[in-house]
Amino acid sequence: MKSRVTGLVLAGGRGTRMGRVDKGLQPFRGSTLVAHVLARLTPQVASVAINANRNLPQYQAIAGAAPVLPDFLDGFAGPLAGLQIGLQFCPTELLLTAPCDSPFFPLDLAERLHAAMQAEGADLAMAVTMERDPEQPDAAPFRQPHPVFSLVKASVLPQLDAYLETGARRMEGFYKSLRVAEVLFDDSAAFGNINTLEDLQRHERAAAVSAQQPDAAAPAHAPAAALSARRAPDGDPAALDVDEARRLIRERIAPVEATETLPLLNALDRVLAADIISPINVPAYDNSAMDGYALRGADLPADGAAPVTFKTIGVAYAGHPFTQAPRQHECVRIMTGAAIPPGCDSVLPQELATTIAGDNVTIAANAIRAGANLRRAGEDLKQGGIAIAAGKLLRPADLGLIASLGIGQVTVRRKLKVAFFSTGDELRSLGEPLEEGCVYDSNRYTLFGMLQRLGCDVIDMGVVRDDPPALEAALRAAANNADAIITSGGVSEGAADHTRDIMALLGDVAFWKLAMRPGRPLAFGKVQAEQDSAWLFGLPGNPVAVMISFYLFARPALLRMMGSDSTLQTLQARATESIRKRPGRTEYQRGIVSTAADGTPQVRLTGAQGSGILSSMTEANCIVVLHHAQANVAAGQMVDVLLFDGLT
Ligand code: AMP
Ligand code: MG
Repeated sequence: MKSRVTGLVLAGGRGTRMGRVDKGLQPFRGSTLVAHVLARLTPQVASVAINANRNLPQYQAIAGAAPVLPDFLDGFAGPLAGLQIGLQFCPTELLLTAPCDSPFFPLDLAERLHAAMQAEGADLAMAVTMERDPEQPDAAPFRQPHPVFSLVKASVLPQLDAYLETGARRMEGFYKSLRVAEVLFDDSAAFGNINTLEDLQRHERAAAVSAQQPDAAAPAHAPAAALSARRAPDGDPAALDVDEARRLIRERIAPVEATETLPLLNALDRVLAADIISPINVPAYDNSAMDGYALRGADLPADGAAPVTFKTIGVAYAGHPFTQAPRQHECVRIMTGAAIPPGCDSVLPQELATTIAGDNVTIAANAIRAGANLRRAGEDLKQGGIAIAAGKLLRPADLGLIASLGIGQVTVRRKLKVAFFSTGDELRSLGEPLEEGCVYDSNRYTLFGMLQRLGCDVIDMGVVRDDPPALEAALRAAANNADAIITSGGVSEGAADHTRDIMALLGDVAFWKLAMRPGRPLAFGKVQAEQDSAWLFGLPGNPVAVMISFYLFARPALLRMMGSDSTLQTLQARATESIRKRPGRTEYQRGIVSTAADGTPQVRLTGAQGSGILSSMTEANCIVVLHHAQANVAAGQMVDVLLFDGLT
């Protein structure tokens, strides 16, 4: 089928509704609208072309080797003029059209239109959806045709020429003269989210937000382009590999700018906003590493020589220096941490003295070497050097080090505000009775825990029903109040997954199918509300999938927003049993890592690995990472594991 179809992006309109920038060239999700449409069209057809009437060089740059075709008719005659030039050019039997401002159309558009065209012996197959009037939500849904999403036989060109000759320009008028097959698609948001002027403006706003992101202009980073760029071997053209998804997220997100200065004791788990420069040498002076006797190394008996007796002339305590320099064969009794008396360069630990009799200490040859047991000034940190670099998530050792410099206040990035809610009509909150077909909302609790561990200020928004107005209100409130929004559920393509539609409506959100298990669906992007915007992570609903996708995608992104550059450390362990694994997706299995008899790490899986089986997660102490290309693992093979410690 595919080899018989040419794809045509309709971008030939005046696009005045979009302001000065040509509609197709509007910045969107890190590239342009037209690039997104091309990326969705390309996998469905043999070749593509763009119909455009302005900014041809810019379109050509996006089209690459594909042609950019201006209308044959003059004066921006509308989509039919685009169809006409498309049909004139069309090297194949069939032409599939898609408008440049609808970047979410289904990836099976060509296939489904083609099937209907065949079945009905039609000249043209067109997508339709059922819509509801937002003003009258209770009224019956109505049929909404999408004439710009059509598969048409190239042989209708003479009929189209004749129709245009009459001066008529309306697509649906022309279609009346053809045998048309209509194909009903369930996912109305896929076609309809920028049909009205209001939706268009929402997108414009969301696009403007994404254009402010540092890497937004680079087309290689465009989520939609990536969607078609990497295919999973199961043939799903939209399955994106995990590393690519992480890269795309990372590139869009920047740290929050605001900082605050805190007393050291309040700075644990916060991210340092500026380098800590050491104002002093640490240690500040040469001091003793041992309890013993400070002396001049030159006085020590030479190799093979007889023992030498030193006379103790005083005592140096930590905090109470002894300031007199010993003379030849004199020493100073010294305690750990005490300043080295002048002239001394070595410390004999007291237990290495051959004899101690009153003030006399006898030292054998080779008891110590000259220079031993001294901590030199500045050996820990040099004055003026960077003691801790910005971006460090402050842990107990860091607090101690900062204190050792005499610094009592630190500048850290402000805390992130993260709003989260669960979606689903089946969810019941704790304390509510569990009716038939319902489940207790567990994701809210795992999310709460994971966000607390990250040190975020959490805004718990509870459960939101699968109801578009409620979802819209929740997302708007969250975007106005938080830096990031984490949702669970409703991002797969189920019939009740309204979350998708609303997310698409409110923002610049990409819906990824990831080549991973568990956690296939993921929504990522920016949600724009009246006052503010927030990054959105729409996690899947299944409880294990929520946790895994949080750790892999949301957590690193939140850490980056916090200003920290964290990477998850993996370690290698020997699999104690064979593990089934299909190449072409990354699998994250729950495991228990332990120490084998020979002292090396080994790992076994925690029984059933279903993405709803949360007990596998509580039993586990690590995630076994089976990489994209990896196949079945034999018992005894090494695998990568991600330890929960430090993660959970
Ligand atoms: P969804 O992605 O919304 O289709 O949800 C997938 C599965 O996860 C369904 O079985 C849901 O009932 C379940 N699920 C979704 N959200 C939660 C939650 N917050 N707590 C427990 N299970 C959930
Ligand atoms: Mg659901």
